[in-house]
Amino acid sequence: MKIAVFGTGYVGLVTAVGLAEFGHRVVGADKDTDKIRMISSGKAPIFEPGLEALLAKNLKSGRLEFSDDLGRAVRESDVIFVCVGTPPHDDGGADMSQIEEVSRLIAGSLNGYKVVVEKSTVPVKTSSWIKRTISLYRKSDTPFDVASNPEFLREGSAVGDFLNPDRIIIGVESERARDMLVRIYDNLKERILITNIDTAELIKHASNSFLALKISYINLIADLCEKTEADVELVARGMGLDPRIGGLFLRAGLGYGGSCFPKDVKALTRIGEDLGVDMRLLREGERINAERVRVFINKVKQSLWILKDKTIGILGLSFKPETDDIREAPSIKVISCLLAEGARLRLYDPQAMGHMKEMFPGDGERVAYCTSPVEAAQGANALLLVTEWDEFKEIDLKKIKQVMANPILIDGRNMFDPPAVRALGFEYSCLGRK
Ligand code: NAD
Repeated sequence: MKIAVFGTGYVGLVTAVGLAEFGHRVVGADKDTDKIRMISSGKAPIFEPGLEALLAKNLKSGRLEFSDDLGRAVRESDVIFVCVGTPPHDDGGADMSQIEEVSRLIAGSLNGYKVVVEKSTVPVKTSSWIKRTISLYRKSDTPFDVASNPEFLREGSAVGDFLNPDRIIIGVESERARDMLVRIYDNLKERILITNIDTAELIKHASNSFLALKISYINLIADLCEKTEADVELVARGMGLDPRIGGLFLRAGLGYGGSCFPKDVKALTRIGEDLGVDMRLLREGERINAERVRVFINKVKQSLWILKDKTIGILGLSFKPETDDIREAPSIKVISCLLAEGARLRLYDPQAMGHMKEMFPGDGERVAYCTSPVEAAQGANALLLVTEWDEFKEIDLKKIKQVMANPILIDGRNMFDPPAVRALGFEYSCLGRK
């Protein structure tokens, strides 16, 4: 079987490399010619641990190639994984134009039976639109099937997640398509759950929205802890010991961001409301999440009173650790609020500064990019921890304190141990615990 993967972003590139690692012949196709050139030379355009080594290995094996000849990728493949973006529209619904574009492209080059697999996160019922589009634009009655195989990988651990997933959801409506997809995941057979297509599409949106709600729930509890003597970290630990709840995604802090949770919650809300279902539960979760930055900025103001012309160091810009992705990162809102108040910012992130510079160019005056946490703390009136990179757990806080103008540490991810940090002489605040 020959597989084409359309879109070589965070999901498509990992999917192409992962499927080649499973032993398939794969062509990764993207309309971004520069990206294709870069990937073909063995360089990953994104930071993802382990990706570049696996890319090099599979390019060398000859099983994996990348091309901007999209028509050829369709013609030479039996199965086409669609991994293009589905960003949010202003109204919250998913922008499906990239999916439509690929569907038309597939229709134009359809030269024999193929299975078109939605791997992008799409609203329930999208498969009907893809089917209709391909049927409308294909030149003959060449048969094809559409299937759903949503992707659950997490940025930062994407390679491991793809190669060793908890579950593989396959939504199909024909035996032929089912057999082909099951063959692709032959090595992971026992983890496959076969459903109809609507169910598979909904599993992805329902999973992400549930996880987002879990984060908002613990942040709501953190607000309550702030008003009492309770400690949200211990509340979360105590809750998580119950296997029905589980400890993951119970970290209070600046809330969720990234290219998935915010858009998927919005999209599911929109889908439900369009279908006449009351989706206020999700709207409330979103509202709680949106409040997080305000709560955090209030902490900064409680420490510094007036922010104008204060120097503030920020550690962590990516939306979560181990990625360079800043899409919908809480850091963007934090930076915007602090700049609007007239603060001077010193920013540091192990991987995401390149992307952030496109949004907030460093002028050395209001926004300075630094090469280390210590440099970000230099002369600062306060240091904010925004993304909990492991690297920050190891920082030399004594040195940080020496270079700061005022030893004030505000921890948006409850990463540091309060007594230990205070013992070093820091004025320390965090969220939902004293
Ligand atoms: P991305 O923006 O990183 O990548 C999309 C790629 O598609 C880009 O390289 C773009 O050039 C390419 N593309 C756009 N139109 C094209 C066309 N007509 N032909 C060929 N290539 C085209 O997006 P991503 O983060 O990889 O997400 C892709 C999908 O996967 C989204 O639906 C997302 O919700 C879903 N998803 C993302 C993650 C994640 O962690 N990023 C996890 C699971 C699912």
